[in-house]
Amino acid sequence: MNQPLSIVWFRQDLRTLDNPALTAACKADNVLPIYILDDANAGQYKMGGASRWWLHHSLKALNASLSNALNIYHGDAATVIGDLCQRFAVETVYWNRCYEPYHITQSQNIKVQLSSQGINACSINGSLLNEPWAVFKKDGSPYKVFTPYHREASKIDRPIDILPAPTLPIGLTRDPKAILLDSLALLPLTHWDASFYKHWTPGEAGASSLLNRFLSDGINDYKDGRDRPALKAISRLSPHLHFGDISPQQIINALLTIADDQNSEHFKREIRWREFSYYLLFHFPSLPNQNLKANFDHFPWENNPAWLKRWQQGLTGYPLVDAGMRELRQTGYMHNRVRMVVASFLIKNLLIDWRLGASWFWDCLVDADLASNSASWQWVAGCGTDASPYFRVFNPIIQGEKFDPQGEYTKLYLPELKELPDKYLYRPWEAPTDVLSQANITLGETYPHPIVQIKESRERALAAYGTTKNL
Ligand code: FAD
Repeated sequence: MNQPLSIVWFRQDLRTLDNPALTAACKADNVLPIYILDDANAGQYKMGGASRWWLHHSLKALNASLSNALNIYHGDAATVIGDLCQRFAVETVYWNRCYEPYHITQSQNIKVQLSSQGINACSINGSLLNEPWAVFKKDGSPYKVFTPYHREASKIDRPIDILPAPTLPIGLTRDPKAILLDSLALLPLTHWDASFYKHWTPGEAGASSLLNRFLSDGINDYKDGRDRPALKAISRLSPHLHFGDISPQQIINALLTIADDQNSEHFKREIRWREFSYYLLFHFPSLPNQNLKANFDHFPWENNPAWLKRWQQGLTGYPLVDAGMRELRQTGYMHNRVRMVVASFLIKNLLIDWRLGASWFWDCLVDADLASNSASWQWVAGCGTDASPYFRVFNPIIQGEKFDPQGEYTKLYLPELKELPDKYLYRPWEAPTDVLSQANITLGETYPHPIVQIKESRERALAAYGTTKNL
């Protein structure tokens, strides 16, 4: 007869420290740790290429931390768990909660399935400071605006001790039917991920060293420096947070070890934006694909495919936009300030539906996150609940001059402009011919002419917006 055991089902919590589901499961003598790649359940939101790269390496790191006892499967999670319950004497299945609509439905169905088999299901909060149902307005409705949400949510925050990595039971069960990590084929067949390796170390050790680096050299300049893409004033923890290589509580507790000043306050506020994105996704599950402001349903998008392609390739002729799009392709990441600029350019200057931009980000970002990506795109588009107004159109020239004045960031990703004097960096078309030729630039050949004019395209965007205002 099989020994009774507990299953711990990893999803977006690929760590051993501060992992409540793992800690709870490890109270049993025998534990079966599992990960299931369930693309079909995620439907159109199945993980994109860059996320799959991250997942591969994060699973590898987790497996090593679990003494190579992580059992990996590919398929429908309910079927895999059902099969495990047939073959092993499972007493309880533990998991940390996820908040994407398809994850919620799946968990509910699995709970029903387990209960019908007389098996306990135990889901726990392992990814948020406050779950979406912990904070409401006085009238019982969900907040739609960040600042009052933040004020209210901060009130219920309290320091919580970080759970140590549990002692792994002797009885870590290995299932002969589990597959090898490589069988998930998560790594791209082409080599577009080649440069990811020098930028990232997925897994909990990578997250912890990144956090330490940020706390000793970064956070001191966070409030002002976070908008300057050339500086190292940001944490770059977003992919680690998405995959749960680290918990937000670990980050908040680590902040207690440094001076509580406006930089750490601002950083905590950004962590709260992540929470707010999950909050919105939970209360407004159509966030990823429907305008939260319904008048945008009639927006006259032009969706020019040639322009979309130029944007994706970083060939719009606007250096800050192009640098951002190439950073994305080369590193799987883009600085937040630049994300706002490229998104505004796509939506407003090119009149391309924000969902097409969100979908490209979904494929290319190592931190692609249904909540943060959808909420942020709706924010820039102006159709979200707490959105930047549509008439706020980021000017990519001014943004470049203001936030990357010496062009260190822009020239890093656009080496073809590296000899161009700062004065013309964000407006190469204004440079005299001799300046261009000294910088080895031939517009239209070595670097594109702008695909649209800023002033005209801004006016076109405002006119398009005007048609939806009174609907
Ligand atoms: P830091 O400045 O160090 O902030 C710390 C953490 O706070 C981040 O890791 C992140 O978890 C959270 N955070 C910071 N800013 C935001 C924000 N505006 N919204 C939500 N959480 C935030 N973030 C994602 O994690 N996944 C996405 O798919 C994503 N898509 C985006 C799309 C657009 C168009 C825009 C404008 C923003 C998007 N963001 C997304 C938010 C933000 O750009 C990133 O979280 C941030 O750049 C990550 O870098 P960091 O870890 O150095 O951030």
